[in-house]
Amino acid sequence: MYVILMGPQGSGKGTQAARLAPRLGLTLVATGDLFRAAIAAQTDLGRRIKAIYDRGDLVPDEITVGLVEEKLDDIRRERALGEGVAGALFDGFPRTRAQADALDAALAARGERLDRVVQIEVPLETLITRLTGRRVCKRCGTVYNVESNPPRQPGVCDRCGGAVVQRDDDKPGPIKERLDLYFAETAPLLADYRDRGLVEQVDGDQPIERVTEEIARAVERRSAGQKVEG
Ligand SMILES: [Zn+2]
Repeated sequence: MYVILMGPQGSGKGTQAARLAPRLGLTLVATGDLFRAAIAAQTDLGRRIKAIYDRGDLVPDEITVGLVEEKLDDIRRERALGEGVAGALFDGFPRTRAQADALDAALAARGERLDRVVQIEVPLETLITRLTGRRVCKRCGTVYNVESNPPRQPGVCDRCGGAVVQRDDDKPGPIKERLDLYFAETAPLLADYRDRGLVEQVDGDQPIERVTEEIARAVERRSAGQKVEG
């Protein structure tokens, strides 16, 4: 089973992906993790990614897709060994039309296909409130949120006593820009997936446990439906 989890920054997508992958028996495929792993392993690809990061550029689709394909092959090997891996849960990928097309082709080449796209929906104002609430300790990097996880004493880090500040990136202007870019990029992908009958929407403006339940149900419903058909 191959499932994509989609949602903007602040939707709780990363948290949900980490909770859901073990529950569904799926391998979590998060491109950020793949990049970090390749850099840490100092492979040729890892060195190229590090150079791109150091320049502050975006990793090109060709590299991202290459890493995802390696991961799909790992999953296939694990399945062949009977290791009980049911497929993949994609977090943060695909993000562009080119990536989505490449994913379809990579799955088809392996005799697989996409089963479900779950979109986590959170109202824009809630996203902005969550994201502008982010604070970071200047000394040790501990992350806080003034709404959901404030330091015990405002502006002072619980762990090291350092100054807890709002980064420029977490101010309303830059946040709005990042969200606008995300919606502009992913709208055409979602429209495509919706045409293929793959999209299930889940209300992300609820407690974490509830959101996890709803996503799991959406995925399980789909896999049960497929068993009936085939
Ligand atoms: Zn600190």
